[in-house]
Amino acid sequence: MKVKLHGTRGSYPLSSDFGKTYGGNTPCVEVIGGSRRLILDAGTGILGIDFDLGHPSNRIDIFLTHLHMDHIQGLAFFKPLFNPSNEIHLWGPQDSTSSLQNRLNQYLSPPLFPIPLRDIPSKLHIHELANTTMDLGDFVLTSEFISHPGPTLGYRIQHGSKTVCYLPDHEPIIGRSRLYPEDEWISGFDLAHEVDLLIHDAQYNKKEYKSKPGWGHSSIDLAARFCDRTKARRLVLFHHDPAHSDKQIKKMFEKLIRKTDYDFPIELAVQGQEIEI
Ligand SMILES: [Zn+2]
Ligand SMILES: [Zn+2]
Repeated sequence: MKVKLHGTRGSYPLSSDFGKTYGGNTPCVEVIGGSRRLILDAGTGILGIDFDLGHPSNRIDIFLTHLHMDHIQGLAFFKPLFNPSNEIHLWGPQDSTSSLQNRLNQYLSPPLFPIPLRDIPSKLHIHELANTTMDLGDFVLTSEFISHPGPTLGYRIQHGSKTVCYLPDHEPIIGRSRLYPEDEWISGFDLAHEVDLLIHDAQYNKKEYKSKPGWGHSSIDLAARFCDRTKARRLVLFHHDPAHSDKQIKKMFEKLIRKTDYDFPIELAVQGQEIEI
């Protein structure tokens, strides 16, 4: 299974040199296994994917974790959406108050966008997800609601014997520095348990997180502690704060490595990075 990081930045995109090393595009990750590929989130990173290159069919599956702008803002400018021969399957979290179509339509309609969702030329299929596991042919995908403001899903994807877990916006425990002793009380635990690769929110440093409990994001320390607890085998720190320069992100990371002694590899997500697992 191959995992490509097309967008690693949280909250809003950056175009300046300030975030050049780790990337300025908002979340989008591509998972390739066998003849299929899945797209996770549609931040501005999705605009960097060339779908004409080696794509065996006209079907594209996009799994949205939630509808915060940084995870859907690339959608309106995603070229395959405007090609009538494409079949686009858009998956996202169920919400008891409104359908996924209505919620997406709030962005993909005037005055925010000139074309309403119903006039998008491709064959668009919208699917709502809750806590579920499904067989997608080359992949088995599990979705589960996780702790983040508004309905938000985390994903676990299996291809053969390999697994990846994607939790880009996630606060496994709110307002405490230590995780609960009971695994079942920790948000996202089952999704991440013993995966080969965990892509996890690491927006804040320890001090910043103290003033932002309940904002739905993790400190770099909390992300590492969560990885350790779930026995995930490799950690990629994701959703970099756009207020942090490359230098600050590197400093946060070096401090974590210096002060801890985890027995799994930890790295910072870099836009354009390809990970083979
Ligand atoms: Zn986000
Ligand atoms: Zn969010």
